[in-house]
Amino acid sequence: MPLMRSWVVSANAAETDFPLNNLPHGVFSAPGRRHHLGIAIGAMILDVTAAAPVLAPALRGALPDGAADPLAGPDWNAFMAAGPAVWAAFRAALQTMLAEGAAAREALAPHLVQMSEARLHLPFTVAEYTDFYAGRQHAFNVGTMFRGPENALPPNWLHIPIGYNGRASTVVVSGTDIRRPLGQTKAADADAPTFGPSRRLDIELEMGAIVGTPSAMGSPVTVAEAAQMIFGYVLLNDWSARDIQAWEYQPLGPFQAKAFGTTISPWIVSRLALAPFAVGAPPREKPLLPYLRDDGPGHYDIALSVEMAGASGPSATISRTNARELYYSAAQQLAHHASSGCAMRTGDLLGSGTISGPTRESYGSLLEMTWGGRDPIELPGGARRTFIEDGDTLTLKGHAEGDGYRIGFGECRGTIRPAPDVPS
Ligand code: CA
Repeated sequence: MPLMRSWVVSANAAETDFPLNNLPHGVFSAPGRRHHLGIAIGAMILDVTAAAPVLAPALRGALPDGAADPLAGPDWNAFMAAGPAVWAAFRAALQTMLAEGAAAREALAPHLVQMSEARLHLPFTVAEYTDFYAGRQHAFNVGTMFRGPENALPPNWLHIPIGYNGRASTVVVSGTDIRRPLGQTKAADADAPTFGPSRRLDIELEMGAIVGTPSAMGSPVTVAEAAQMIFGYVLLNDWSARDIQAWEYQPLGPFQAKAFGTTISPWIVSRLALAPFAVGAPPREKPLLPYLRDDGPGHYDIALSVEMAGASGPSATISRTNARELYYSAAQQLAHHASSGCAMRTGDLLGSGTISGPTRESYGSLLEMTWGGRDPIELPGGARRTFIEDGDTLTLKGHAEGDGYRIGFGECRGTIRPAPDVPS
């Protein structure tokens, strides 16, 4: 599919993240507008809350009788709950009304806001956050460091999309500062643990899948049904304190090491916008059980990168990888999540697991890039890092590359601030 041209001229630029083909969903504030729904288009935001009288008629035919107003806000949850027919109708209407030469220009142009003047908020209320572990190279690298290369992949890994239940309460939007976490750690040669600021603070480069339509308790879903339940995707940084993790994680998994902050990019890129970039799964070394088998292409070709900057230094790209490195798709993870009868809710966020490629330059965490802190990476100006220092800013970026356009996610950025005082 080629670039779809818009009367919003900045949306036709080859380097924009937000052409008419994309139309991602966000929530913003700007002078006179508090927590309005918005759609990114080029360098502008279409104020959906203000333009609702123009846009709502397009949804009437797709809305079930008695359904809540999907554009009522204050976030996109009601819209996501309205289901795939409404999502498709809204996207089709926007693509018609924002197209070059469209008559709707007169009605919509007054509702455009400069993105540079807007403050972006979380685009949806996160119901619950589950983090998976579907990057094979990452699982292999971490397993090699902890257990050696012979037993690197856990015995269940090729059969189950492994995950743990994380915290929705500390999922924040890009640009939110993160305080270095306090926690209990124990050095390998020490007799007793201590409590204080983490010294091995890390990132995890992930995709986040967002559940649109829910499933009922006691009702498993197929992979195909799960695919239809997913509304869209964001970039996700699962900040991780490796020293806290190493001491606490056995036998129940990560707890405080990952509970202090998870950053997501501000725009939900819809599954419909990513459809042209769907790709097949990597080769299956072991056949999956029937409930996890996927028929169609459930993965995405999305170029991903990590940038790092010290408090005063320039930003450097320290990793480049691709979402197609994932072994399990979000639909498989969702089907597995519901397989026991676990109810899935509108606004559930599923982290993919760290996405690492085959080489050091494509790893998705500092733990892997520095091989457990052994091999520092060098930043421009000569600064060296093993793990994150106070004042450092980490930025994830991602986009799918189309024919003359890109489907971008915007930035997923966070700066680390000093730890709080130790309570006494
Ligand atoms: Ca993770």
